[in-house]
Amino acid sequence: MAVTINYDLCKGPDCAECVNNCPMEVFEIDGDKVVVAREDECTYCGVCEDVCPTGAVKVEPE
Ligand code: SF4
Ligand code: SF4
Repeated sequence: MAVTINYDLCKGPDCAECVNNCPMEVFEIDGDKVVVAREDECTYCGVCEDVCPTGAVKVEPE
């Protein structure tokens, strides 16, 4: 599984919709960035893509 954040689109910790809605806590806030911290836990549920307001998150099977 590959979880990626496009930082040209991501609104950062002020948004954090992915951090707050991922059931597996894959995302974390790290300083002024939202990062993919636990990619191995991802179950490919698609919630992060659904809640991201800018389309910055992509989840793709490897
Ligand atoms: S697809 Fe689901 S489990 Fe994976 S990072 Fe997104 S919200 Fe979390
Ligand atoms: S939901 Fe999208 S825009 Fe918001 S912090 Fe996550 S990746 Fe960035």
